[in-house]
Amino acid sequence: MAIMNLRFWGVRGSIPVPGQDTAIYGGNTSCVQIATDNQSVLILDAGTGIRKLGLELVTKHKDKKEVHLFLSHTHWDHIQGLPFFAPLYIPGYSITIYGPVHYEKSLEQILDRQMEYTYFPVRVAELAAKINYHSLKEEKLSIGDFSVSTKYLNHPVLCLGYKFEHGGKSITYCTDHEPYINIFGNGGHSDEVVRTVVAEQNKGFDNFIRNSDLLVLDTQYTEAEYPSHISWGHGYTSRNLEIVRQCNVKKWALFHHDPDRSDADEKKIEESLQRQGGEEKLQTEIFAAKEGMIVEV
Ligand SMILES: [Zn+2]
Ligand SMILES: [Zn+2]
Repeated sequence: MAIMNLRFWGVRGSIPVPGQDTAIYGGNTSCVQIATDNQSVLILDAGTGIRKLGLELVTKHKDKKEVHLFLSHTHWDHIQGLPFFAPLYIPGYSITIYGPVHYEKSLEQILDRQMEYTYFPVRVAELAAKINYHSLKEEKLSIGDFSVSTKYLNHPVLCLGYKFEHGGKSITYCTDHEPYINIFGNGGHSDEVVRTVVAEQNKGFDNFIRNSDLLVLDTQYTEAEYPSHISWGHGYTSRNLEIVRQCNVKKWALFHHDPDRSDADEKKIEESLQRQGGEEKLQTEIFAAKEGMIVEV
C-alpha cells in the first residue's frame, strides 16, 4: 500500500478554462490534496478545484473535520475557489490556512478582501467553521505525522514551495516558480559575482526538491514560448527537465498548465518530454497533471 497519495483537483494556471478543449487535463485552477490514512485533511492551494474537494469532504468524509490548507501565494488563481469551499460554512470544522507572510497586510486581511460584499455575499466573520491563520517563512513544521518544509520560490509575489515528508517518502509542490535568472542587469557587480548569486539561488531550489518521490512543478511554458515570458514567474519544459535530471526526482508532474493550452497540445508536450526522458534512460516518471488523477508514492 502506498505511504501517501496526491490527488489533483485543479491543474490549470491563471484562470479556469472549462470547455471541450480542456476536458481531459481539466480546466480548474490549482488545488491538490495529500492523503494518508490519518485523519487530517491536507490541501495545497485554493484555486477553483477546491470547490469539488470541499463537496466530497462534507458528503463522503464527514468524520474528517481538521483541515490544513497551504497556500503557495495569494495570486487569484490560488485563492479564488476558497469562498466556495463547503467546510467553511459548517460548524465543527477547524480550518488552518497557511501562506507566505506579507508585510503590508496579514494573510487574514488578504483573504477577507475577496469576501467583501462587493465581491461575495458572505463575509469571513459569518463563516461557521473555526478558522486559524498561520503565516510562514522558510521553516519546518509538523502536522500530525507529516513534516512540512517551505522554500521561497521565484515569482512576482512572495510564494512558497512545500515539501511533505511522511514514512520516508516525500512530495514536493512547487508551483509558480521560474528558475532564477538575472533580469536586472549587474548593478555595478561583475558578471562573475552575478552568475554566482544566480547559481546559488538555483542550487537552493535544487537542494529543496532533491530526491523527491513526487515533484509537482510549474511547467507552464514550452522552451519556444519562454523567451516571450521571461520574469512572469513560471517554468518551462527543457529547463525543468534539466532540473529534474540533476535532482534525482522519481516522479515529475507537469503542473500549472497554460490556460491557452488545449488537451491535444498538452499531450504533445507530455509525450515529447517522456520521449526525451526515455532516450536518455532517465529514471524519472514524467506526466502532465490531470484533474482527478491520483498519484501514489
Ligand atoms: Zn498561478
Ligand atoms: Zn502566481
